[in-house]
Amino acid sequence: MNRLWTGVLDLLFPPKCVFCGQLLEDGARDLCPACCRALPWLTGAQAEQAPEWLDLAASPLRYEGRVRDSFHRYKFGGMQSYAGAYAALMARCVEEHFPGRYDLITWAPLSRRRRRERGYDQAELLARALAKRLGVPAELLLAKVRHTPAQSGLEDDRKRMENARDAYRCPHPEQVEGRRVLLVDDVITTGATAGACARTLRQAGAKAVFCVTLARAR
Ligand SMILES: [Zn+2]
Repeated sequence: MNRLWTGVLDLLFPPKCVFCGQLLEDGARDLCPACCRALPWLTGAQAEQAPEWLDLAASPLRYEGRVRDSFHRYKFGGMQSYAGAYAALMARCVEEHFPGRYDLITWAPLSRRRRRERGYDQAELLARALAKRLGVPAELLLAKVRHTPAQSGLEDDRKRMENARDAYRCPHPEQVEGRRVLLVDDVITTGATAGACARTLRQAGAKAVFCVTLARAR
């Protein structure tokens, strides 16, 4: 976008912090200084986990407080425009934990039914925004073949695993074979969804699977 147009948009819609809604000072983008300091950041080994089938998963934030409120506005309140701000944080996280160790980006897709209900796929928006930042392609590699209950409604870990297992299929293994895939999702809890996606990708011939999510719930 050219600078003049950006300036006009800023006048019409003054940029606000995606986490607390505070108007941003001149030049600041996405995040206010208070949130920069006070958000529940995860760093170093805290940010990482390695669920089965994944080489490594990392998240820049803990899923609580302002992060959770912001994410609810993104997912259910029509604030799809947050995807760019979230992708910036996720890109930094990728650069810190597995820089350059992937060839392409994909995401854990919604079922067709849920996508139709919601009108968009929040993980796809994140994946496409992140791909632009990291300069690699984003490709739809997985299909959700079973319409499962939302993972967020299931507290029990075993139920989450059973709910996610066999929920994904890779319709074109030739797109995946021998490639290193960076999987994008919004929130990671037990890693059941990411693990199920990674298993499907590996069985289709992926050489490595990494995962980045905006936030981590546990
Ligand atoms: Zn803020």
